[in-house]
Amino acid sequence: MKKKLFINGEWIESEQYADLVSPYSQEKIAEIPQASEKEVDAAIDAAYNNREVMAKLTAYEKADILEKLVGLLKENRLKAAQIISLESSKPLKFSLGEVDRTIETYKFAAEEAKRIHGEMIPLDAARNGANRLGYTLRVPIGVVAAITPFNFPMNLVAHKVGPAIAAGNTIVLKPASQTPLSAYFLAELLEEAGIPKGSFNVVSGSGSLVGERLVTSDKVNMVTFTGSPEVGIGIRTKAGLKKVALELGSNAGLIIDEGVNLDEIIPRCVIGAFSNQGQICISLQRIYIHENSFEAFTEKFKAATEKLVLGDPLDENTDLSSLISRKEQERAKTWIDEAVSDGGQIISGGRIENNVLLPTAIVGVASDSKVSCQEVFAPIVTINPIKNVSEGIDYINDSRFGLQAGIFTKDIHTAMQASKRLEVGGVMINDIPTYRVDQMPYGGVKESGNAREGLKYTIEEMTEMKLVVWNQEEF
Ligand code: NAP
Repeated sequence: MKKKLFINGEWIESEQYADLVSPYSQEKIAEIPQASEKEVDAAIDAAYNNREVMAKLTAYEKADILEKLVGLLKENRLKAAQIISLESSKPLKFSLGEVDRTIETYKFAAEEAKRIHGEMIPLDAARNGANRLGYTLRVPIGVVAAITPFNFPMNLVAHKVGPAIAAGNTIVLKPASQTPLSAYFLAELLEEAGIPKGSFNVVSGSGSLVGERLVTSDKVNMVTFTGSPEVGIGIRTKAGLKKVALELGSNAGLIIDEGVNLDEIIPRCVIGAFSNQGQICISLQRIYIHENSFEAFTEKFKAATEKLVLGDPLDENTDLSSLISRKEQERAKTWIDEAVSDGGQIISGGRIENNVLLPTAIVGVASDSKVSCQEVFAPIVTINPIKNVSEGIDYINDSRFGLQAGIFTKDIHTAMQASKRLEVGGVMINDIPTYRVDQMPYGGVKESGNAREGLKYTIEEMTEMKLVVWNQEEF
């Protein structure tokens, strides 16, 4: 299957191609265009030249395109999920879940397209404001370059493309090199949904070439990036004055207070730690549990983890499959080995079998071991005892990152304290930090990012405020 670039509403064969390989089976699944600088520039020019076409669409027309996309995704639900599983090794049940969320994300975008408005400004409140009528408008920012990661190749793209369309912007999308098929499938559906030619473009290829060209182009007004802190910080420094929205990584933590019913929370904790092989920006990486419950919790957690079904991502029974690449799998294994040599003790997993890193839980981990203080992005969770919730909050805050955190407690005052003290973008009371629905404001502090996604909030980032003042005196 040889894919083509999608530029200015045309499917274009590229000068160069690279093989795309399934992370699980290691078989070739497609040939992917590797856009040259000239081809990236053509995509940017298409988006730039079509800004007015998009900006002139009415709210009704933009919502209509998004609603049609929702309908097409519903019709193609299984096909879309199979594409995600094939290229990323996400187990099919989770890929279906991602497609359902993607549908909801575009639905929210369609609804928000109808709610973009400014406000009246009471200018006559100022000494020199008499007879003036003032109001603000939200106008499209222009060309949006969207650079996306491999771990949610449809829904995280939707978090950029949906609001960009709703706001009346044009888009150049650069998907992660391992997951371009989802992006090209979206292009097919958007074409069918009637997106104006040139308003949505997809260019695959290496981050250093395609990404850098987008980030440094004068014709791009905003870069919206989801990915690793290292790449995100690099983008921020190269982007000049253009707007840059960064959604980056984390080492998300959970506190479990004493007195919590462990049987009820164990399934949530296992899902939080291991779904999508731990390759989620808010994957549950660090569990801090009251010392009185520590032993019972670790026993139950181990038993639940060992029930997970490992194997082929396209099998509907699979819970956990291969990491995105063998290199990543090896990297994660060396981090496990380091944690053990720092004094940690593996209670489940810890090895690779049939190209799958087993879901791994480690207790007694030093807080400066990489599996604790860096983003692990693999099916690895650390479990450490704490004397009280306050100690757990200190551990969670002792991090470069601050995306989301969770706490299970029966005490309302403890929950209130945690919500105040945790240094993160979102605090989940009586839930894991991995909780997300797509309209909520989502993003981080510290090295976890500088923006919020969630349709309404992204639309605000993707529009400029324009002020209009009328002098009402007669001349
Ligand atoms: P990544 O390596 O940073 O890649 C993300 C995107 O950036 C890819 O499209 C990549 O292209 C591109 N890229 C690489 N180098 C670039 C450069 N120099 N200039 C411009 N673009 C460049 O991240 P990933 O491994 O795909 O995804 C995992 C990371 O994403 C984790 O850190 C995770 O926490 C984070 N994440 C955050 C959120 C959130 O909402 N906060 C959500 C999901 C994931 P190539 O693929 O071609 O290298």
